[in-house]
Amino acid sequence: MFESLQERLGSILNGLTGRGALSEADVSAALREVRRALLEADVALDVVRSFTDRVREQAVGAAVLKSIKPGQMVVKIVHDELVAMLGEEGVPIDLNAPAPVVVMMVGLQGSGKTTTTAKIARRLTERQGKKVLMASLDTRRPAAQEQLRQLGEQTKVATLPIVAGQSPVDIARRAVQAAKLGGHDVVILDTAGRTHIDEPLMAEMAEIRTASNPHEILLVADSLTGQDAVNLARNFDERVGITGLVLTRMDGDGRGGAALSMRAVTGKPIKLIGTGEKMDALEEFYPKRIADRILGMGDIVSLVEKAAETIDAEKAAAMAKKMQSGKFDLNDLADQLGQMQKMGGMGGIMGMMPGMGKMKDQMAAAGLDDKMFRRQLAIISSMTKAERANPDILKHSRKKRIAAGSGTDAAEINKLLKMHRGMADMMKAMGGKGKGGGMMRGLM
Ligand code: GDP
Repeated sequence: MFESLQERLGSILNGLTGRGALSEADVSAALREVRRALLEADVALDVVRSFTDRVREQAVGAAVLKSIKPGQMVVKIVHDELVAMLGEEGVPIDLNAPAPVVVMMVGLQGSGKTTTTAKIARRLTERQGKKVLMASLDTRRPAAQEQLRQLGEQTKVATLPIVAGQSPVDIARRAVQAAKLGGHDVVILDTAGRTHIDEPLMAEMAEIRTASNPHEILLVADSLTGQDAVNLARNFDERVGITGLVLTRMDGDGRGGAALSMRAVTGKPIKLIGTGEKMDALEEFYPKRIADRILGMGDIVSLVEKAAETIDAEKAAAMAKKMQSGKFDLNDLADQLGQMQKMGGMGGIMGMMPGMGKMKDQMAAAGLDDKMFRRQLAIISSMTKAERANPDILKHSRKKRIAAGSGTDAAEINKLLKMHRGMADMMKAMGGKGKGGGMMRGLM
């Protein structure tokens, strides 16, 4: 899956050789390839367009990290955007509702609905210890109910006894009733499909929905579905309202664009993927893993991540040097405060250090808390560049302006200046012998 995308992106890498910031021309050239590759992977045109627009927005003008080639930078941006588009975190089936929780499976005929129903039932039974009941609502295909019964036997999951002549809605009601009486935690309704979307199918789904009040409505779709994927997802979502997607045949050699398209069009999470015909061939969907697979360039992504870390380290070293030379201005203080917030604020930093609980209380008592740091950052960002570089020029009128701009008062500004002066002095005194090492050192 996605081989052509990998090949194409590979050629982007060699194409971009400039340094510094990504130019519009660089990005456009790369995105032409990305666009072509996504279309070849059967991603819907609209989806491709909005995807490349977003990448372009982020990429043009983006600084290229030292030691990274522009092409690598674009790959990283494409990767992150793919992950964002596929939905960041995996989302499990939600069973947070009074039992029996009704899960309704919808989709076209042959998409793998019945197989997936049994796979999910098996998983909930074995992994979560749930008592599950499955019911086939497919009265059109004679063998459908029997197929589910057999899968139930195979997976040791209960199925609703077959009663000839009942309508799908009747079966749905009976299933929910039986689940209530039988003390089942979950009841999974395997609805009938059609070879294509039509009005009677949608009407039937809507009716079943009303009758059974499902907590989850999962659209099962074949990942090999090409350009139809968008229509399929949009129709089911608009008419029936889906809560998630299950993509089957992810083990096949399809072009895989359906995943991107359906997620993008519905905004609903891909919850699970089917990776084979066997009952255990069902996996959670991890957007990052899939994006890595799409790009096949995990090493480049981690290379860029590492470069970003190195930049942080270099910045820290430069800061330490600055501190020791006594040139620690308010810009640097703001940097340090920002860094601290990135590390999860006071609580985060203290949490990383053993035995710091008591210290944290003492600091809180002295008013040294995250709120204060945030106010201090606000004060500094209300200053002009000149003021930050040289706090000595801060006289009464300037302070008044800054207080108004940051929603603080002169006393608080004075407190900040005093703290900064103390830190700068201390750092100067430490200069030479100490290894520098950031604000926490100065504070403790
Ligand atoms: P339904 O008509 O939507 O209920 O589809 P079925 O559940 O009957 O599945 C149709 C065919 O697809 C069966 O032969 C399944 O074994 C097969 N199938 C379902 N899911 C997958 C999958 O994830 N991978 C593969 N390779 N085959 C699958």
